Amino acid sequence: MQTDVFDAVVVGSGATGGWAAKRLTEAGLRVAMVEAGAKVSAKEFTEHNRPADYPFLGMSPKVMEDRPIQGQCYACREGNHKWFVSDKENPYVQDKPFNWIRMRVLGGRSLSWGRQSYRMSPLDLTGKSHDGYGDDWPVTYEELVPYYELVEKYVGISGTAEGLSNLPDGIFQPGMEMTCGETILKDAVKKNFGRTVTIGRTAILTKPHNGRQACHYCGPCEQGCSTFSYFSSPFTTVADAQKTGRLTLLTDAVAAKVLTKNGKADRLMYIDRESRQVREVRAKVFVLCASTLESTRLLMNSGICGDNDALGRNLMDHIYQGGASGTMPQIEAKPWAGPPRRPNGIYIPRFRNIKERETKGFIRGYRGLGRIIKTRCGRGNGGLVLTYGGSVWRGRRTRCRLIRTGWMRGGYRC
Ligand SMILES: Cc1cc2nc3c(=O)[nH]c(=O)nc-3n(C[C@H](O)[C@H](O)[C@H](O)COP(=O)(O)OP(=O)(O)OC[C@H]3O[C@@H](n4cnc5c(N)ncnc54)[C@H](O)[C@@H]3O)c2cc1C
Ligand code: SF4
Repeated sequence: MQTDVFDAVVVGSGATGGWAAKRLTEAGLRVAMVEAGAKVSAKEFTEHNRPADYPFLGMSPKVMEDRPIQGQCYACREGNHKWFVSDKENPYVQDKPFNWIRMRVLGGRSLSWGRQSYRMSPLDLTGKSHDGYGDDWPVTYEELVPYYELVEKYVGISGTAEGLSNLPDGIFQPGMEMTCGETILKDAVKKNFGRTVTIGRTAILTKPHNGRQACHYCGPCEQGCSTFSYFSSPFTTVADAQKTGRLTLLTDAVAAKVLTKNGKADRLMYIDRESRQVREVRAKVFVLCASTLESTRLLMNSGICGDNDALGRNLMDHIYQGGASGTMPQIEAKPWAGPPRRPNGIYIPRFRNIKERETKGFIRGYRGLGRIIKTRCGRGNGGLVLTYGGSVWRGRRTRCRLIRTGWMRGGYRC
């Protein structure tokens, strides 16, 4: 057991753990970060590999063999599958089908996330007051604004201000350009429905920022970014925490239990993945950032916080699916190789039930993400995925359809 008592232990180094470590160390606290995955370096990034560099064009059957659940996520590919847990080694019971996408690496899902970044709106936070269902959030939009600003300034979000109440604007770097087809769609949607189509708001730099370079449109980003143009915690928040000299980083350290003394959290028990030894680390405060489900599991395994029946309930996952695609003959042109890949799409903000309480028995709303690109055969081809809640999380069937329509790989801008 480490005899040192840290001011805080942060479990997990992903999107949230990185921020916790940065803020606490910069405030002067001595922090131990306990991360189940291995360290990551830019040398292992594979975003510039071509599919032809892999024997199975990046879709080796081995990936699905070891990772039948993770492999269903579009981001888990031959070049980066080791960042995702092995489903064989980490099985779980599914009473109802549920794909638990888990990354175990320094940086967690921030290494392969979709980077779409939107503020919640006052309407999102006050659903109950609007339509009577569920509960309002215990925080107001005004209370969140300073934190949104802090994160946006640091992370660098590119996007376009639209002045909509249901999609608050933030502090943006210049938005990425729309394609010709997208501009035609944007104008037609505004003219015929009065609705907005905007460029996706994304945590990808369009201008250099904090020592990170602007995006050079190479994609696929989920395999890493050698220029650090999209936000991922190992090269931003965690690196900042390390610079303070007050962070002790423990990688390959799988947290198992929070142990208590006199009813208070006192130490964290973890397993060293390499040596298989059980170890402990002591602190005054414990911050669980191991992802929603894993942090909940840790609390349950520790037998704490379970006396009010809320633990393990009301968890939220991304709900998405439903979509459409088509062609735009008016932008047909000669076949061409096209310019590089824009790692971002277009966005149709929620327009349903903004003023109304409900529409034909349907409450709340949905949003659309998509793109219109020129396929190699020269036709403008586009599609939209509708999502309710979180962000784009596409399944295998959708992925095949998108590859076929040129959405993900072969399609290019006009
Ligand atoms: C393919 C994909 C696309 C996405 N796209 C978007 C998007 O476009 N926009 C958006 O807002 N969100 C998106 N998300 C979701 C977003 O990535 C997550 O909401 C976010 O990363 C959650 O942060 P977190 O810190 O809770 O978890 P993570 O970032 O997953 O970090 C958890 C960390 O905890 C570690 N850990 C887990 N268990 C243990 C343990 N027992 N002991 C020690 N360490 C442990 C993990 O190794 C990991 O490093 C996407 C997710 C995926 C998978
Ligand atoms: S497309 Fe941009 S953000 Fe994505 S990997 Fe390439 S440079 Fe990085």
